[in-house]
Amino acid sequence: MPLIAIIGAGPAGLMAAERLVAVDGKKVAIFDAMPSPGRKFLMAGKGGMNITHAEPLAEFIGRYGSRQAVIEPLIKRFGPQQLREWIHGLGIETFVGTSGRVFPTEMKAAPLLRAWLHRLRHQGVHLHVRHRWLGWADDGSLRFATPDGEKIVAADATILALGGGSWAKLGSDGAWVPLLAARGIPVAPLRPANCGFDVAWSAHFSERYAGQPVKPVIASVAGRRQQGEFNITASGIEGGLIYALSAPLRDALETTGHATLHLDLAPGKTLERLIADLARPRGRDSLANHLRRRAGIEGVKAGLLRELLPFLASTATDQLAAAIKHLSLPVTATRPLDEAISTAGGIAFEALNEHLMLRNLPGVFCAGEMLDWEAPTGGYLLTACFATGRAAGEGVQAWLNRTG
Ligand SMILES: Cc1cc2nc3c(=O)[nH]c(=O)nc-3n(C[C@H](O)[C@H](O)[C@H](O)COP(=O)(O)OP(=O)(O)OC[C@H]3O[C@@H](n4cnc5c(N)ncnc54)[C@H](O)[C@@H]3O)c2cc1C
Repeated sequence: MPLIAIIGAGPAGLMAAERLVAVDGKKVAIFDAMPSPGRKFLMAGKGGMNITHAEPLAEFIGRYGSRQAVIEPLIKRFGPQQLREWIHGLGIETFVGTSGRVFPTEMKAAPLLRAWLHRLRHQGVHLHVRHRWLGWADDGSLRFATPDGEKIVAADATILALGGGSWAKLGSDGAWVPLLAARGIPVAPLRPANCGFDVAWSAHFSERYAGQPVKPVIASVAGRRQQGEFNITASGIEGGLIYALSAPLRDALETTGHATLHLDLAPGKTLERLIADLARPRGRDSLANHLRRRAGIEGVKAGLLRELLPFLASTATDQLAAAIKHLSLPVTATRPLDEAISTAGGIAFEALNEHLMLRNLPGVFCAGEMLDWEAPTGGYLLTACFATGRAAGEGVQAWLNRTG
């Protein structure tokens, strides 16, 4: 009976297994370095598991940016709608939030993972935890470090679903990169995606405002503009709005060495309205009170203005209004990869055929975040992991049928 080895028990690997157990006459074994499966998946469920998005498919596919052409056929085979139906098949209901984001009813990953693992085990999938893949032996077998020493597994087909390089403590540490590069597989450097940034805050600003949300605000960079909120941290900025714009910010830092986020601190007012409001007589009001009463600028927003506009008190009204509508916030660096929500870079799609099999290593398939794509948060990450996992499973099936 052919053995299919799936390495990595995250959403991509588990979905590949799910696809393969449907086929009789094959043994499916999943190996994972960690003591239990799906740790990052469970972490993704902590703040509310946003598993996919309900927007029209064309918009959904557009979220994969420069990789949409390669992701599109995979998402069309197993996209947001199929994913929701699949979740419902596990006995878990989903709902669409106000922003179109889709969540399991309980918002958590644990009940879904529990039901899924139970079903996979029942279907005969063998799960081997504490099996760290070390690469290939000379004869092409798979090498694993286990608590009982090194184990060699001869597989008829292998699916690598080893994740990206962030949150290494959850298992995906990117240690696979040199193993594949040594076999001549092109791997784009792993880079932070959906990440925070460092800002050279003054000690006063950072002590006073770290942890505070800035909202509502419109942020823009490189022609992209989005309303939302973000948080001040001791060393910079993070949060949903920053993650959404993190790719162009990161790319600008990489190519030019500097990047600037532009903030509209008063999204509800036009520039003209703001100038008119701020031009009203101040009387005995302090500037801080005037800004609060006339422009709604207070707290952390006022702090940002003071931090980034050194001569605030002597700034003319129209310049002050212009700064509120277009405040330049220079960022100095991305936060480290390990802190990022996801990873850009990875195995180049050019190295894979349409079944996600490595052209140079026939019988070895790849899926999930270890492939070279990126997407914003909003359920796009998990959906692509599921879609690529499923495609790799289908690819193995087609490949074994063809050769077998
Ligand atoms: C805090 C946080 C919140 C998130 N929230 C969301 C969200 O709401 N929505 C969303 O769409 N996405 C979210 N994500 C991203 C999402 O969790 C990941 O994109 C997804 O888990 C990647 O799936 P994967 O199967 O490719 O890899 P992973 O889930 O990383 O799984 C890879 C597996 O491979 C194993 N492994 C790695 N190397 C080896 C080795 N050498 N040998 C054996 N096993 C190995 C690991 O132990 C791990 O179990 C979030 C991520 C984080 C960190």
